[in-house]
Amino acid sequence: PLVLGIETSCDETGIGIVRGSELLANVIASSMEEHARYGGVVPEIAARAHLEAFGPTITAALAEAGVTLQDLDAIAVTSGPGLSGALMVGVGAAKALAVSLDKPLYAVNHLVGHVGADVIGGEAVEYPTVALLVSGGHTSLLLVRDLVSDVELLGETIDDAAGEAFDKVARLLGLPYPGGPEIDRAAIGGDPAAIRFPRGLSLPKDMQKHRYDFSFSGLKTAVARWVEQKRDSGEELPVADVAASFRESVVDVLVTKAIAACRDLGVPRLLLGGGVVANARLRQVAEERCAAAGIELRIPPLTLCTDNGAMIAALGAQLVAAGHPPSGLGFGADSTLPVTSIQA
Ligand code: ATP
Ligand code: MG
Ligand code: FE
Repeated sequence: PLVLGIETSCDETGIGIVRGSELLANVIASSMEEHARYGGVVPEIAARAHLEAFGPTITAALAEAGVTLQDLDAIAVTSGPGLSGALMVGVGAAKALAVSLDKPLYAVNHLVGHVGADVIGGEAVEYPTVALLVSGGHTSLLLVRDLVSDVELLGETIDDAAGEAFDKVARLLGLPYPGGPEIDRAAIGGDPAAIRFPRGLSLPKDMQKHRYDFSFSGLKTAVARWVEQKRDSGEELPVADVAASFRESVVDVLVTKAIAACRDLGVPRLLLGGGVVANARLRQVAEERCAAAGIELRIPPLTLCTDNGAMIAALGAQLVAAGHPPSGLGFGADSTLPVTSIQA
């Protein structure tokens, strides 16, 4: 089926068009730069930016795909989780399009959309698979038994998301937003073993109660304290070592817990998604340890890992193909939509 996907859950206005698993268009407008001076996404600014970007983005996507709105078989939209005001722009636009074009509308889960990105452009991963989603807003470990009908939340962050931790530590080191790429750059030449920062929720007692959960706020505080002490002592701050050691802690915990889940559940497949996948060290450590553990590692191209409309279209197309009925118009933006609600 020819499906248009709309994504506005955070700071990316994403419109994607797929035919089944074939990618026809993936156009993204980001308001990231407008948030930079605030050090994080400002919901009000994001919502307004979606309104402004929506028209041009959908026009560009249709042109890129060489199709018209009338050609579509269905429309899919992210209805949650995410920022309410931002989600509402996409949901409102999707409903207007569906009504005026008389097309079936599928309201889908943003996190499951990230898993759906893997379907695009070829053979999808076999199910069940474990999925680790790491972005500025999420750090979630999922067990996907079936993309369109059975997704379980194994664990998630109990405080900051992994990308958020990168952003906060970058700010602490005087680096601009978004912090992920800045920390990556600052870590070049640094020694990841120079400073042993804490691994959140990894002590034996935590591994009982929070085996698949994450925590990054303690790490951020540890980095802050370390930096403060160095500064007070008048010594020069070894920025590369701090960045490399901090990054190592985040990456170590992410990969350790994801592989633990694969092992515990007897699922030899791991799929990564979310903007933090851009981190070169995360990909490297995941590749090394998955290879050693006999786990198949799947990493979609980066443009499909960060927020985009194509993954939403792909999930919508899978729902259509599986014969799921459309969502109707009675749904709304749900900022806390649980991952078990694949379709709202
Ligand atoms: P959502 O949580 O809804 O997916 P988001 O906009 O925060 O929303 P993305 O756009 O997927 O998510 O990712 C942005 C995040 O990824 C930021 O926190 C950014 O710091 C982080 N990031 C980007 N590049 C890197 C990198 N090289 N290393 C670590 N983190 C990175
Ligand atoms: Mg973003
Ligand atoms: Fe996302």
